[in-house]
Amino acid sequence: MVFPKPASESDLFLHSNFASRYARESLPRFSMPEDSMSKEAAYQNIHDELQLDAIPKLNLASFVTTSMEEECNKLIMESINKNYVDMDEYPITTDLHNRCVNMIARLFHAEIEEDGNAVGAGTVGSSEAIMLAGLAFKKKWQNKRKAEVEVREGYYVMDPAKAVELVDENTICVAAILGSTYNGEFEDVKLLNDLLLQKNKQTGWDTPIHVDAASGGFIAPFLYPELEWDFRLPLVKSINVSGHKYGLVYAGIGWVIWRSKEDLPEDLVFHINYLGADQPTFTLNFSKGSSQIIAQYYQLIRLGQEVSSYSRIYDPFPSNNLTNTTKSILLV
Ligand SMILES: *Cc1c(COP(=O)(O)O)cnc(C)c1O
Repeated sequence: MVFPKPASESDLFLHSNFASRYARESLPRFSMPEDSMSKEAAYQNIHDELQLDAIPKLNLASFVTTSMEEECNKLIMESINKNYVDMDEYPITTDLHNRCVNMIARLFHAEIEEDGNAVGAGTVGSSEAIMLAGLAFKKKWQNKRKAEVEVREGYYVMDPAKAVELVDENTICVAAILGSTYNGEFEDVKLLNDLLLQKNKQTGWDTPIHVDAASGGFIAPFLYPELEWDFRLPLVKSINVSGHKYGLVYAGIGWVIWRSKEDLPEDLVFHINYLGADQPTFTLNFSKGSSQIIAQYYQLIRLGQEVSSYSRIYDPFPSNNLTNTTKSILLV
């Protein structure tokens, strides 16, 4: 995450540097445009603006690869739409991953299992790898069991009343899921918020809510704009959403949003300043590709807030079903 600098009035709109038929109206910088635009206009706008970035091959900062052989570039493009995590669908990719783990493990003199395998995992970068190693140490050290709200036959989401019952002074937050991985159903975040507000008032605690909107975060604002599940509820302090689900971008992009600056402790913010200007960020990873971010931006400005353009282009179901569906995502 990069924290943008405060914008002056004149920064609130993007003015094209190039004269073209696409540049007649300025785009708002920080809100999604009201209307959709043609794919050509979306492409041209971003392409033109990116001219002002430096040329990657001249960038020696962070010592990250900026040039590979053509054959390798070709392989990258051939697999750019493969989600690494779908291992059953892409068994060969999984096998290549395991071969890499094994080769590197042997390079580092790891202990090899009887079946010839070493233990390791690919990550987005070394930062994620370091965090995973840290988590593994913590897990070994930790032996206390966590209480969970069990789902029961015929009811596959969290029961807000039961969840609130389990809250004690050691609870750091209650996480609600908007778009259950089981069936797409939305948990009742508003009820959870209301019950928890009561409990906080009685006890003097200040237990907040995180919403895991991995699947629902790009669905609810368009199809159920009246549904209160987000920062309209006072206890919701942070929300995550997967850009590579209904944000319509290839695998490798997610977002976390905090309610306000106060909700992200300043000592977690990492200030990168060895490459020039101070750049505050908060992320598990450091080096990674930027194409997913650019692609996410493309989808936001290309589709705008127009519900019809979203469903016209991407909805695999006829729209007459959508309004009848309970508040849930149609999992495909
Ligand atoms: C998909 C999903 C995740 C994991 O998200 P990724 O973007 O794949 O890392 C977490 N929570 C829920 C509810 C999900 O649907």
